Amino acid sequence: MAIADLVNDHIRELRPYEPGKPMEELERELGISSSIKLASNENPLGPSPKAVAALRGAVGEVHRYPDGACFALRDRLSQQLGVSSRQLVFGCGADEILELLAKTFLSPGDEVVFAWPSFAMYPIVVRGMGGRPVQVPLGADLAHDLPAMARAVNERSKIVFVCNPNNPTGTSVGADDFDRFVESLPGSVILVVDEAYFEFARRPDFPDALAWLERRPGTLVMRTFSKIYGLAGLRIGYGIGDAELVGYLERARHPFNVSRLAEAAATAALDDTEHVERTRACNAQGIEYLGRELAALGIEVLPSDANFVLARSGAGTYEALLREGIIVRPMQGFGLDDYIRITVGLPEENERLVKALRRLQEGGGGGA
Ligand SMILES: *Cc1c(COP(=O)(O)O)cnc(C)c1O
Repeated sequence: MAIADLVNDHIRELRPYEPGKPMEELERELGISSSIKLASNENPLGPSPKAVAALRGAVGEVHRYPDGACFALRDRLSQQLGVSSRQLVFGCGADEILELLAKTFLSPGDEVVFAWPSFAMYPIVVRGMGGRPVQVPLGADLAHDLPAMARAVNERSKIVFVCNPNNPTGTSVGADDFDRFVESLPGSVILVVDEAYFEFARRPDFPDALAWLERRPGTLVMRTFSKIYGLAGLRIGYGIGDAELVGYLERARHPFNVSRLAEAAATAALDDTEHVERTRACNAQGIEYLGRELAALGIEVLPSDANFVLARSGAGTYEALLREGIIVRPMQGFGLDDYIRITVGLPEENERLVKALRRLQEGGGGGA
C-alpha cells in the first residue's frame, strides 16, 4: 500500500506555492553578504516604528492565548472603515481568508472564476478543496478582461476572484468597468475582491468595492497588513463583508488563528498614518524611477497601481540578476517567460537594480 493511494486526489495533484527566494539562501549559495530582495512585495522601509513598539510591549504576554475575537483591532478597524465590527474576519495573512472562503463555499467540482495570470494562491486553494479553477486570460494590456470573466460565470460557479490591483501585473480596473461587472454577476456567486495592494492604488477612479457590501451581500473584500503596513512576517490579513457571510467564515476559522503579537502590531500600525504616507511616497517615487530608467534601457514596463512593476526584460534576466545578488520574481510559472516582477525598493536598491540591468545589456554581467 502506497501512501499516495491514500491521499485525496485533489491534494496529490497540487503544486505547492513557490515563494520568492530568501536572501539568506542566495547569500549562502553565492558566498556573499549584500544581496537585495525585490521579490515579495514587502515594504522596503520596514515595519511601522509604532508597531515595533507595540510588539515589544506584547512580547512578555505570549504565555497567554491571544484574544480569539481580536477585540481591540476589530474595534479600531471597524471605525476606520466605517463598517460594523461583525463585518470583519481576521486571518493568518489574507491567505487564510482565501482558505476560509474555499472551505466554507467549495465542494468538489464547484467552479471558481478568476483572471490569469493573477495571484498564485487562487488555483491552490481552489484545488485544495477539489474545486475547479476557471482561469480567464488577461486582456492584451495584461489587465483583467472583466467582460470575458462575466461570460465565464455559469450555474456551476461558486466564487469569482477579482484581484485589484492585480498581482503579478500591477494593472488595475477602474470604477466604471468594475461596477458594470459586479452589476452583471448573478446573486448566486460569491464575489471576492482581493485588495492586497489597495493602499498603493493611485488612479483617481479606483473602484469603491466596500460600497457594494450593502447592495450585494455575497461580496467579500480582502486586505492585508503584509504589504503597505510592512508586517508580512507576522501573518495577518482580513476580510470585510456582510455580517451573515462573515459569520460563516467565522465558523470555519480556528479560534486562535491570529497571534497576540500580530494583533498588537496591526492595531498600532493602523494608527501610524505617517509610516503609511511615507511608504506611499517612497513607492510612487520608485514606480516613476523604474518606469523611466527601464524605458531608457528599452525594457517595457507595465503601468502599476501596486508596489511592484512587471518588466519585459527578456528571458534569463532573473538568473543573471541573482548572480548580481539581486532577487526579483521570475514569471515562467505564469507563462510570462520574458518578464520579471520587481518589487519597488529603497531608492538605492532601485538604483542598484537599474545599474545591474544596464551592465547585463552591455554584456558585462553574469560574472560569478
Ligand atoms: C500578498 C498577497 C495576498 C496575501 O498576503 P498575506 O501575506 O497572506 O496577507 C493576497 N492577495 C494578493 C494578491 C497578494 O499579493
